Amino acid sequence: MITDLNQSFTLGSLESKIKKVNKRVNVSLAQLQIQKFEKASSEGDRIFFQAMEEVLDSIAPLIESDERYRRHAIVERLTVPDRVFKFKVTWLDDANNIQVNTGYRVQFNNSLGPYKGGIRFHPSVNEGILKFLGFEQILKNSLTGLPMGGAKGGSDFDPKGKSDFEVMKFCAAFMTELHKHIGPRVDVPAGDIGVGAREIGYLFGEYKKITSTYDGVLTGKPFMFGGSLMRPEATGYGVVYFTQAMLEQENKEALKGKVCTVSGAGNVAIHTIEKLQELGALVVTCSDSRGTIYDSRGVDLALLKELKLQKRVNLEEYLITYPEARYIPVEEYPEGGHAVWSIPCYAAFPCATQNELWEADAKTLVANGCVSVTEGANMPSTPEAIKILLDNKICFAPAKAANAGGVVVSSFEMSQNAVMTKWSFEKVDAKLKETMRQICKRVALTAKDYGVEGNYVDGANIAGFKKVADAMIAEGI
Ligand code: NDP
Repeated sequence: MITDLNQSFTLGSLESKIKKVNKRVNVSLAQLQIQKFEKASSEGDRIFFQAMEEVLDSIAPLIESDERYRRHAIVERLTVPDRVFKFKVTWLDDANNIQVNTGYRVQFNNSLGPYKGGIRFHPSVNEGILKFLGFEQILKNSLTGLPMGGAKGGSDFDPKGKSDFEVMKFCAAFMTELHKHIGPRVDVPAGDIGVGAREIGYLFGEYKKITSTYDGVLTGKPFMFGGSLMRPEATGYGVVYFTQAMLEQENKEALKGKVCTVSGAGNVAIHTIEKLQELGALVVTCSDSRGTIYDSRGVDLALLKELKLQKRVNLEEYLITYPEARYIPVEEYPEGGHAVWSIPCYAAFPCATQNELWEADAKTLVANGCVSVTEGANMPSTPEAIKILLDNKICFAPAKAANAGGVVVSSFEMSQNAVMTKWSFEKVDAKLKETMRQICKRVALTAKDYGVEGNYVDGANIAGFKKVADAMIAEGI
């Protein structure tokens, strides 16, 4: 379920936020952004503006304190992608019918390194959604301290219900166009919603065939042909490592023995649950696009993996093995809310998709004594929900910091490919853990430096922005 952003996000709210920023920093940003907003027609565009608004809000003090950013028009330049490729993807389904989808690659900014960001296959994909994800990716990649720019791509193709052959044929057709725009030093895509090891394998196979090269042009590859150990686990594990570091930093109790709630049932959710369980937390929920499972004795991870990674069926089938668990279909979710967040917990982990934790959910989490919320998915919390959580001093870890583990290990995969070597699981895990701790520290310190101690949203936006902005200035226009 995605919230209707028209209700919560209006031109008026964007206009007043931008005016506030503009008044403080004295730049002619307002008119520029409002014009763009007026042209924005789809929900995807609105989500892009939602992401941009949050960043603009956070970075106002930085822009105010350093006139170089205004002189070099950094905000105006950073909020427009370097280029957007949009292309037709035609493929043959199993019944020999010709199918047509749209493919995209948004190359947003490469000031810090080659463009880097996932590919999403989902019917909701459009240019606006990918611009939001690409924009977030710039600051996320910057926060890692690793040499990567920001990008995102995908298609409105839905892999659900398709045979392996159909997925293969679609991936080959998609790569027929995409290969012209990517390369190990140019742009290195990875997975995202609907794109896992199977899809990356097919995409890589086609790239290899077309170009006759064996390049590390995609990350998230299966281990046997160039993938890094721990890439599948990286985002979820990183989410938990970040939470551990944040709880420690904020003098809160550790996760061991604590009830945790997780939304989603895909790559990020599954590996978040796995690491939480390893640490002795009790994870009682998971969800997919059809409904939520609440299992008070703890989610059976092996069964979840079997249902979602092997059989690719709906979560309701969890009840066949555990009829005493509760299944809540989306139609029965609380008004304006998500079933997962109605379950009392110590720590909450939204790991499914954007705008899945709303204002009402945030209020419920606060009322139920929740101590921390960590975003595993990209921008899963609405601005109104984030405000409630921050106002109530909940430890809140924003996606661009907390879910950076995936791209961190992708960067490790690029390093291993470049020198044709393989690192051990332990080495990757230790480096990931340390990197997530460093990101957490950087975000917390930045927030403190800018007078917003404990606000990890502002800390992440300012720290991420500053590095990219300084590189853009040094590289000229
Ligand atoms: P998957 O495709 O593996 O899983 C996505 C999960 O979210 C599935 O359970 C899916 O349900 C559910 N879902 C998808 N769309 C909706 C929707 N509109 N409403 C409700 N549920 C939905 O994706 P990932 O786990 O890889 O990605 C999840 C999130 O994490 C995304 O926001 C992604 O951008 C972000 N992310 C992923 C990274 C990665 O390494 N994979 C890295 C960083 C961020 P169903 O099973 O029914 O389809």
